[in-house]
Amino acid sequence: MKLPKLRELKEAIRALIKGPYTSEFPRVAHKPHKNFRGQPKFNQDKCVGCLACEEVCPVGAIDHIDITDDGGIPRRIMVHYTDTCIFCGQCEAVCIAEHEGIKLSDEWELSFFDRKNESSETIEKELQLCEICGRSIACKDHLKWIADKLGELTYSSPTLYLSRLKSLGIVDENIVSVLKSEGRSDRVKILCASCRRKTTLTTEE
Ligand code: SF4
Ligand code: SF4
Repeated sequence: MKLPKLRELKEAIRALIKGPYTSEFPRVAHKPHKNFRGQPKFNQDKCVGCLACEEVCPVGAIDHIDITDDGGIPRRIMVHYTDTCIFCGQCEAVCIAEHEGIKLSDEWELSFFDRKNESSETIEKELQLCEICGRSIACKDHLKWIADKLGELTYSSPTLYLSRLKSLGIVDENIVSVLKSEGRSDRVKILCASCRRKTTLTTEE
């Protein structure tokens, strides 16, 4: 019989006393290193729904769905596909919300029982509709974010200053006009680019 080497004997005795070297996962939850780059997570409160992260994601792991016609609140659903993501961190790097709208976490567990329903995470952001045609313009938080960045320059754009007033609760929420003159009287409204052009170029009789 081949005798164990001294080092192996020492390791065997140490394992008997202190327990094995190997991780005890899954009995004990694995704790990742502090620098581990795990699954990115949206932050509902910080994200403004601008879609910059979707633009840069190299594998198409971020998507969005705009819902404006189901009778509920017009909203943008931001989707992150955890089974496609490669944890590169580009989304966090470009996030306009101080890199807080989406952030890499230390979550590493990616096994699912039901891949179809469990491999994605979503948040919802309220959409601003054009007050003439009802098309979506952007998320309300995004318009407010632009208005905050521009400061007093906001007052050159009715869409932006009205968005700001709405966020302060001074004017009403999403309204699509019943009366559409698309002329001067419609200029002081929140409008998409196409309706803004029409109201600016149309001459009322
Ligand atoms: S970490 Fe990279 S792959 Fe994953 S969602 Fe962000 S940009 Fe896309
Ligand atoms: S605010 Fe950040 S997380 Fe939200 S859509 Fe824009 S880039 Fe993505």
